[in-house]
Amino acid sequence: MKILITGGAGFIGSNLCERLLNLGHEVLCMDNFYTGSKANIEKFLGNTKFEVVRHDISEPFNIEADFIINLACPASVPYYQKDPLKTMKDNVYGIFNVMENVRRLNIPVLHTSTSEVYGSPSVHPQPETYNGNVNPTSIRSCYDEGKRAAETIMFDYHRQYGADIRVVRVFNTYGPNMLEDDGRVVSNFIVQALKGEDLTVYGDGKQTRSFCYISDLIDGIILFIDNKNDFTGPVNLGNNYEFTIIDFAKLVISLVGSKSKIKSVELPKDDPIRRNPDLTLAKNILGYNPKINIEEGLKKTIEYFERVI
Ligand code: UDP
Repeated sequence: MKILITGGAGFIGSNLCERLLNLGHEVLCMDNFYTGSKANIEKFLGNTKFEVVRHDISEPFNIEADFIINLACPASVPYYQKDPLKTMKDNVYGIFNVMENVRRLNIPVLHTSTSEVYGSPSVHPQPETYNGNVNPTSIRSCYDEGKRAAETIMFDYHRQYGADIRVVRVFNTYGPNMLEDDGRVVSNFIVQALKGEDLTVYGDGKQTRSFCYISDLIDGIILFIDNKNDFTGPVNLGNNYEFTIIDFAKLVISLVGSKSKIKSVELPKDDPIRRNPDLTLAKNILGYNPKINIEEGLKKTIEYFERVI
């Protein structure tokens, strides 16, 4: 298949380009290089099955492909908050532009939504049937509500035009090709620990997250691409091993073997208190089962950051 990956030079996108090329597919990588990086895709440039186009999905485009995977959107809190109106446009205009190609070509599409659609959840862990607790006017809304609107648009293309859609809700994921300054907790803590700086725990560190290694997420996406039974999702993908952020900081310090200390800084506004995916649907329908435990995944990610910083 010829597969368009929007956001193909980003953290998830570049790992997905690699897997799909290894599986023998042709990959067309589209990116505006706002958070995507050329270093992430450099190694594919000599591959005749790989093409790259600089384009911003909030602007219309026409491509030829057999399948589209939509990943294009800044996804870390500091980056998506830098220009919130642009983030909303990437989600809303972006998905219209993607879906118009899907409709014209009559091809399937897989869209990566996010656990942020659950907001600060009052149901724990979060099943796909939980409709979320999202503030429409907060500093996180450009992303949360943008992603919610994108899901709505996809399901309306499905109902109105019969579009063949697959929607994934991606929970916190980490691994090689994350940006060093991306601002997410995994990259921040590893980079701080490697540099011997204090680890910045926001608030009291009792908030929780569950961290999925990138290869497990990619496995789930591939299972969903290959799924033939008209399943649209939305389906959660991630890892359900839950950590408090303070315990996570201690684990990173010990795995790096760092002398760094922990310092408490102000908790950002509207930071969700708990987050953990209910993976029952992914297991039952896709046979999804994340395999990489946190120590193993963190060691690979630490090795990656040792090389880049
Ligand atoms: N966090 C932290 N220190 C950091 C970066 C993040 O304590 O340097 C916390 C943040 O407040 C949140 C959790 O780690 O509770 C995960 O943050 P991240 O930005 O990685 O992802 P998200 O909030 O989107 O889940």
